[in-house]
Amino acid sequence: MYCNACGKAIAEDGRFCSHCGNVVGIPPMPKKLMRSRADRKIGGVCAGLAQYLDLDTSLVRILWFFITLACGIFPGFVAYVLAWIIIPEEPELKPVVAAQQPVTS
Ligand SMILES: [Zn+2]
Repeated sequence: MYCNACGKAIAEDGRFCSHCGNVVGIPPMPKKLMRSRADRKIGGVCAGLAQYLDLDTSLVRILWFFITLACGIFPGFVAYVLAWIIIPEEPELKPVVAAQQPVTS
């Protein structure tokens, strides 16, 4: 494969370009069910679920709402509170300082 930044050939499984230091591709992240910090209305449960299932957050909220109604409020409410307690909150995102390497060539 080739580096997107400098176009030089690099190792197939390389994550950084050995020529310019550019990050190539995104390292595979194991999918983990976590409550969303950024997109939350109550506990971030629905947003976390939506992220995990690759669904729209609003869709999950609407589904949860109707399932809660259909089950008679209480089970859905208990399920939400349980999910809130059990599902870990996603780690706080620290601002990433991009290491800009000066061009020496
Ligand atoms: Zn490069």
